[in-house]
Amino acid sequence: MNYISTRGQVAPKGFIDTVLMGLGEDGGLMVPERIPAVSSDTLEWWKGLPFRELFIEIFSLYANDEIPQGDLKELVDASYATFRDPEVTPLRKLDDSLYILELFHGPTFAFKDVALQFMGEFYSYVSKTRGEIIHILGATSGDTGAAAIQGVRGKEGIKICILHPHEKVSKVQELQMTTVHDENVLNLSVKGNFDDCQRIIKELFSDLEFKGEHHLRAINSINFVRILAQTVYYFYAYFRAAEQAGESKKINVSVPSGNFGNIFSGFLAKKMGLPIHKLIIATNENNILERFVKTGEYRPGEFRKTHSPSMDIQVASNFERYLYYLLDEDSAKVSAYMGTLASEGRIVVEGDLLRRVQSELQALGATNEQNLELIGKYRSETGYLLDPHTACGVAAYEAFNEDGEITVSFATAHPAKFDEAIRLLDIVQEFPVEIAELIAKEQYQTVIENDKAEVTRQLEAFFAGDAVNKA
Ligand SMILES: *Cc1c(COP(=O)(O)O)cnc(C)c1O
Repeated sequence: MNYISTRGQVAPKGFIDTVLMGLGEDGGLMVPERIPAVSSDTLEWWKGLPFRELFIEIFSLYANDEIPQGDLKELVDASYATFRDPEVTPLRKLDDSLYILELFHGPTFAFKDVALQFMGEFYSYVSKTRGEIIHILGATSGDTGAAAIQGVRGKEGIKICILHPHEKVSKVQELQMTTVHDENVLNLSVKGNFDDCQRIIKELFSDLEFKGEHHLRAINSINFVRILAQTVYYFYAYFRAAEQAGESKKINVSVPSGNFGNIFSGFLAKKMGLPIHKLIIATNENNILERFVKTGEYRPGEFRKTHSPSMDIQVASNFERYLYYLLDEDSAKVSAYMGTLASEGRIVVEGDLLRRVQSELQALGATNEQNLELIGKYRSETGYLLDPHTACGVAAYEAFNEDGEITVSFATAHPAKFDEAIRLLDIVQEFPVEIAELIAKEQYQTVIENDKAEVTRQLEAFFAGDAVNKA
């Protein structure tokens, strides 16, 4: 299968080339030429598969034969060997209609590990088999950077540089990134905010000469391999929920969302044929997606600081993929809409299109207050401690789950990662040992001004082999 851009100006590419490209060279996002359909017989068979085997089946539908089965199996085994739960993404029942899919059993305790552990192995494989030089560059508000660094640390043929906003990530996120002391890892702590980091990265990537010369590769959630890896747990969760709740129940999925990456994987799974009932977008007070689903207007609003910082996002970078399918894969229309977004700062869908959006997606943005209230309520009623991102998903479950339905709500992070919010409730949680022991470790990072030229200097030195993180 080949991959094309949502804006129609990239010649069809194979799977590996698509992953290496990251963002489409025409500014669009890469999508499969056609989404493979999974028959009900196949679904019946997949029900019985453990996570790793399911991964191989789904991946094989998309990757042509570019990776031989034996190699793929090794990659998948290595990716999930680092997970602390043998099921990788286990499902827990909280009550008769609410199930929690725990996506935080990877090395950095957030759902990003599921895709980024695989991406690290994948890049390493491509580096070995194709002799590609892989220099990963990315910006993070915390979770992506930590997960990406864990995914590639110490791997041959790959270097990674991550920009994070100085003193503006959670303590655990900072420690997860900066206590890594491998030669192939550079942490740049930028005296600015996340948007500053993101802007510098975007400028460096859009300089195609610089990108080519330095072999820059992206790890952000617009990369199709991340989307694909995430579809696996939608299937897995659906099968486990049907098993536990009975086949007669309709199964909803509620997804704490920011960049629309995770929920887009669910949209893809549904398009492949997984009969998810309601696909629910949960946001916090940064609720651009909620406003879009309710009114048809997609317009970045004012940035709000919340208890779920990994969802503090105003422009949902994967939204364009959804728009592409909403507009019946018409890349000329997508380009026109994205042009309007750039020039007027908003886009609007109306009439039948809006009705279609509302039939495909439900959305709710939880306020900071609701968020903390829910964490407290579930802690006292069920004993289960929700992290603040996960709590947004549960708020949306409460709003949309109806009789005869159950909801699988995704736990996208472990609560220990966001203790700043949990402490506001006077809840004292026990930290997993992997997190507790970070505190005593030495930190390696280079603090720099919010300045693209300074980032460029650091990168050139790092790629040339003479810069390492400073303690
Ligand atoms: C990144 C992240 C999200 C948002 O996921 P998207 O794919 O950007 O929608 C939600 N929760 C946590 C804990 C995250 O790290």
